[in-house]
Amino acid sequence: MRIRPATRRTTGSVAALAVAGLLAATAAAAAPAAAAPTGGDGKGSHRVEYFPDPGGAGKTVEVPATAPRKSGRSTGASLSAAEAALDGAVGRQQVTGSTDDRLDVVIIGDGYTADQQADFHADATAKWADITAVEPYRSYRDLFNVWTVDAVSNESGISGDPGADIVKDTALSSYFWCGDIERLVCADIDKVASYAAEAPAADLVVVIANSTKYGGAGYSGLQDEGYPFGGVSTLSSDNAKSSMIAVHEIGHSVGLLDDEYTYPSYGTWTGGETDGPNSTTYSPAQLAEKRAKWYRWLGESDPTGSTVGTYEGSAYYPLGIYRPTSTSLMRELSSTEFNLPGREAMIAGFYRAGNVLSSTLDTSAAITHGKRIRVTLADLGSTDDQGHGSGPAAGLARTDLRWYVDGVEKVSARGRTAVTPASLGVRADGRGHRVTAESVDRTDAIRDPAVRALATDTLTWTVEAAGHR
Ligand SMILES: [Zn+2]
Repeated sequence: MRIRPATRRTTGSVAALAVAGLLAATAAAAAPAAAAPTGGDGKGSHRVEYFPDPGGAGKTVEVPATAPRKSGRSTGASLSAAEAALDGAVGRQQVTGSTDDRLDVVIIGDGYTADQQADFHADATAKWADITAVEPYRSYRDLFNVWTVDAVSNESGISGDPGADIVKDTALSSYFWCGDIERLVCADIDKVASYAAEAPAADLVVVIANSTKYGGAGYSGLQDEGYPFGGVSTLSSDNAKSSMIAVHEIGHSVGLLDDEYTYPSYGTWTGGETDGPNSTTYSPAQLAEKRAKWYRWLGESDPTGSTVGTYEGSAYYPLGIYRPTSTSLMRELSSTEFNLPGREAMIAGFYRAGNVLSSTLDTSAAITHGKRIRVTLADLGSTDDQGHGSGPAAGLARTDLRWYVDGVEKVSARGRTAVTPASLGVRADGRGHRVTAESVDRTDAIRDPAVRALATDTLTWTVEAAGHR
């Protein structure tokens, strides 16, 4: 399923103006329109976010779309026939459903030689485990498919590790010291896209650089530039702290969340209310009065350790705009939790791209009275059995399945994954009755009815008039 392009106009313009070196007052005045970063000419550069300190806040910067010549295939060596045969091979790390019903994550390694592809697969498994240890990924991990694509590099490791002068010949030309920033790992996005295209679908792309050195980056807005995916996260393979970079970046891509950190030089936000689900110009009283943003969560104690309210400073501006909690992983990577509004936004994003309910029985053709209808639910309840849980605590998801005949629930069929129209009491009166299966996620982590609607999936079949076969 395709994730729709993010329209984070506010932060997009902020990033653009940050590059232009303009000040806050003009940023606010110009805020609503800008979509593409202005630091380059679209194809020529990308906006990336990086985290100079593994526990700290991020920064955004414009970087070249292609790696500088000193990175990448410096030796000019080409792959042997045996190596080339491995290059581009697709692995099924976790396939839980059709690409139409799932968010498809593609993991690609860089700096792994032909002999190191098994290491890459182990690293991909470990990184995905790190990411899905964090809620709400943990509870909803079965809404994802995870694919790996093998990229065979001529040399092991990537450029800029350990020092800026180190040059490696790798498949994706990834490198530390991008833009002279040690912890910023850039890659050649066209090369990344060509490998990602080997997988059946790509909503999100994660590049794992074969390195023990802390670093990574998040590319956003790529769909606006014509790429088939919205975001690319880079991170080093053998540094546990780098995993949180991907957790944060997917927060932007899937949850459409703003950064909650600030730059002191930006001063006071003077624009109007913003799009981001985790930034507001309103006071708590205004949020409640307008029934806006996270008003349903005000006063709740939050997994990040504070109480949901309005805390000044968000979306890069230290003043005049507010975030829901004192800290969260959208503010600094020392926090390992989304706040409650962030969680709800993430779950909304999961359900924009993923469907819990599916069936192999075509809904466009009428079915007979005795036809067995089988449905499948994504296995959101079993996350605790997968080794990532913290004891017996259940996950967040609370999927229930109900059946309706002509819009009236057949209560006795609740939870059944196989029924027939006859078993639901559909009468053979030739009236073309409708049978509907409905799954609803009744999780406490959703409070907005619009998000609950996203978390509701239905399938409807029409029953043939009696006497037809
Ligand atoms: Zn960010």
